[in-house]
Amino acid sequence: MQVIVLEPHGFCAGVTAALRKALSLADGAQTIYCLHELVHNELVVGDLKRRGFVFVESVDDIPEDATVLFSAHGVSPAVRRAAAARRLTVVDATCPFVTRVHTAARTFAERGLPVVVIGHANHAEVKGIVGEVELAGQSPTVSTVGSDLAALPADVKKIGVVSQTTMNADEVAAIVARLKKSYAVETMAEVCNATKERQDAVKAFDGDGLLVLGSANSSNTKRLMEVARGRAFRAGSMDEVRALDLGGIRRLGVTSGASTPECFLTETVTYLKEKKS
Ligand code: SF4
Repeated sequence: MQVIVLEPHGFCAGVTAALRKALSLADGAQTIYCLHELVHNELVVGDLKRRGFVFVESVDDIPEDATVLFSAHGVSPAVRRAAAARRLTVVDATCPFVTRVHTAARTFAERGLPVVVIGHANHAEVKGIVGEVELAGQSPTVSTVGSDLAALPADVKKIGVVSQTTMNADEVAAIVARLKKSYAVETMAEVCNATKERQDAVKAFDGDGLLVLGSANSSNTKRLMEVARGRAFRAGSMDEVRALDLGGIRRLGVTSGASTPECFLTETVTYLKEKKS
């Protein structure tokens, strides 16, 4: 079996910056509380736990006057207010690409444009975007595939559209094109560069199998599985890599989600090359 590593791989800029912020706090002097997973990768989160970080799902679970780290996926204004009410010291690791989406969504809403969010309603990033729109007095429409957009009021003529940064780029483009048939559209709906480049590499790969390294809850990892042309496999740990049945694959591409450590990819590729020989 031929093993080909697709470019790019390793941490994206947003994950690199978030981890740099986190590690700058890890001096052991105080407990650092991280609201949700800093990034959606079990290896990264496991490492941070070993360094003493405590992961919580609500600011209510953090003692007053403690330090909280907001994840790369961003938070809603309501969460910021709750953190201020508990006098938390906030270290914000929100990716700048996510902040840009927040700003666009809030601006659309403040201008009175009904906002459509292309994304997964339960994803932390989308909850933050929705919170920004709600702050401007509007309930946005959240859609994953665009099929439910008939829910927009009949008198709506013009809308503002944004998207979660880690969606399937082709699907986002298709939904925006569909919306343009019914509405005047102002759009900031696009996936981030790190997501798009990896999806483009997968779509261009001409092998018969693709291994995506990343965690099951990583949105950009799941999207890489979706755009694969041949058989697609996912593994988030070496145990999962060893358990893969790659029988019949002659040309295997290996890619990774934007929050997957490079050392995991290196170890996987070494294992696969040694295994075949
Ligand atoms: S995948 Fe994109 S949006 Fe998410 S952290 Fe990386 S650069 Fe930022």
